[in-house]
Amino acid sequence: MSTLHVSPIPCLKDNYAYLVETDGACAVVDPSEAGPVIEALGDRQPHALWLTHHHWDHVGGIEALCERYPALEVWGSAVDAQRGRIPKQTRALGHGDQLKWGGTTVDILHTPGHTAGALVYVADGHAFTGDTLFSGGCGRLFEGTPEQMFESLLAILTLPPATCLWFGHEYTIANLRFALAYGGPHPETTQRLHHVEALRQANLPTTPSTVATELATNIFVRTALTEARRPEAIAHFTAARNAKDTA
Ligand SMILES: [Zn+2]
Repeated sequence: MSTLHVSPIPCLKDNYAYLVETDGACAVVDPSEAGPVIEALGDRQPHALWLTHHHWDHVGGIEALCERYPALEVWGSAVDAQRGRIPKQTRALGHGDQLKWGGTTVDILHTPGHTAGALVYVADGHAFTGDTLFSGGCGRLFEGTPEQMFESLLAILTLPPATCLWFGHEYTIANLRFALAYGGPHPETTQRLHHVEALRQANLPTTPSTVATELATNIFVRTALTEARRPEAIAHFTAARNAKDTA
């Protein structure tokens, strides 16, 4: 049973930071701005910031939070540490790293594609996927190849099916509408679209998704995974990504 408690913190226009709590430890994922994070923290003292990648709309709140909480650790990728592009970074992480944190273990996946240093943090049945995987979508390929992104998505989607996936942006409705326009009728996608439209109408986030939901409804992997051969699967993925980029 999961001992982790996760609360999404809406930031900027459509970003999510996350408050992650377990056994006396508290972390914040991707604080794009400090104000909403400080409000969500209340009396709690965060111990660490977990950065999935260096983009401004994920790291923008770091400096103000470090000023307010001077003992904060700032976790991020070794790639981003080398390039000095995450402010105040104190830990440089890579694929397979395991960190003890508040009575649990955090596993690090390196998931290049959106950026060269993209990380996914996995703990107690929860994964923080940043801009690598969105519900119904995936990030743009700013610093990686389609092959890299495809492998990164598979690394996430081979986690246990019930794993909660907490993603970086509220793009779910647009992604599912694209999936139906691009991939044609698909009952599970339509059902998921109706569900998330109801959530958004009630002003609720569509995060988290699960591995099982994404395998069933994410167009970028759904069509690819019907191919037994890796080159064809990657070609399917690439075609979907190109279509979404120009949609
Ligand atoms: Zn990004």
